[in-house]
Amino acid sequence: MLNQNRSNQLFERAQNFIPGGVNSPVRAFRAVGGKPLFMQKAKGAYLYDEDGNRYIDMINSWGPMILGHAHEGVQQAIARALPDSLSFGAPTAREVEMAELIISMVPSIEKVRMVNSGTEATMSAIRLARGFTGRDKIIKLEGCYHGHGDSFLIAAGSGALTMGTPDSPGVTRGTALDTLIAPYNNLQAIEQLVSENKGAIAALILEPVAGNMGCIAPQPGYLQGLRSLCDREGIVLIFDEVMTGFRLAKGGAQERFGVQADLTTLGKIIGGGMPVGAYGGRRDIMDFVSPSGPVYQAGTLSGNPIAMAAGMAMLSYLNEQTDFYQQLDAIANRIVSDLKEVLQQLGLRYTINQVGSMYSLFFTEQNVIDYDTAKTSDTERFGRYFRHMLEQGVYLAPSQYETLFVSAALGEQELQQLKTASYESLKALNR
Ligand code: PLP
Repeated sequence: MLNQNRSNQLFERAQNFIPGGVNSPVRAFRAVGGKPLFMQKAKGAYLYDEDGNRYIDMINSWGPMILGHAHEGVQQAIARALPDSLSFGAPTAREVEMAELIISMVPSIEKVRMVNSGTEATMSAIRLARGFTGRDKIIKLEGCYHGHGDSFLIAAGSGALTMGTPDSPGVTRGTALDTLIAPYNNLQAIEQLVSENKGAIAALILEPVAGNMGCIAPQPGYLQGLRSLCDREGIVLIFDEVMTGFRLAKGGAQERFGVQADLTTLGKIIGGGMPVGAYGGRRDIMDFVSPSGPVYQAGTLSGNPIAMAAGMAMLSYLNEQTDFYQQLDAIANRIVSDLKEVLQQLGLRYTINQVGSMYSLFFTEQNVIDYDTAKTSDTERFGRYFRHMLEQGVYLAPSQYETLFVSAALGEQELQQLKTASYESLKALNR
């Protein structure tokens, strides 16, 4: 059994003063049972908790640490920027360089605005789409997560497909009514929603590869179909690339699947581990943002110099390495083929979804293509698998409905440990 004494003590203390003991809900391990581990430090492929246990990290801070932890280039860039002050609240050269770099990497982005999180990016993007089109409603897909802005916290109960109901107390009914819900990977459902709400839809927002109901790929032609529909109907197509941006390719999922968005939201990797987000896209739309246009959006710490230094170091590295994404994908391919081999050895037929360096093992034999099929997964079994993996030194995302993120810091030794841990954990489940 893991020695978790100090983590447990910290969790006790935390629960007195922090809601649920954590600053973001999924960290509390509620979906997998047990108590959360408190981390002390991390380097490369490994996390170290407060009790001195070491884990191979398969979450990587929910995506940002694509190069592994404490990457030297990023650390040094921060150290170099520190003596010049932590914040100015005035424009800096670094922000210009950052904007130029993002635009050079993501072809559909002609102008970009920096913010402090993925949530801010998506909230700002839909306000902008509404301001630009003069329309109120947005379409969001079931099972996609876009941060905790009110408009996105809408569930799609079966009776609520066309009329959103709030998923969280505190979201007003009025807000919920403006968010229409459609299932993922179902072009027809969206076409119907659009025809029922002709001329009323400002934006369609989606994760071009879903990562927040586990990893789900867009089916062939799906993104292209959405692109044509939005063109036909004057709807702003927003790709939420907070997870996929700079991960699936330099230009994100758009590059990988050959479909361009009107607006793109970014986060995670773009800050190299610092709190950063961004939204950008077509020049004519972005020119609606204040102060060049009427749509207001601002931020005291936006474009923060330390965050920009970290993000620039991260993006420059990804931009300059030849074959970085081929190599990263090769690591993920190896992990997935090892896992498939293990499943076969044990006679298990669970589903694995993978797109580049994002993947999920679903405890179901069904094809997982949307929220309904993702929900066929046996989450109790996932919880036990998660705890077995932890005992064997592998830190997975503590929920079935999260993708895993492969980092470039994983080497042969870690891959072998992962395979052995998967074998032992899956075997233990069937005892
Ligand atoms: N969009 C997507 C696709 C995400 O996965 C997330 C967070 O996981 C967000 C937006 C929100 O980003 P943040 O947590 O930085 O606010």
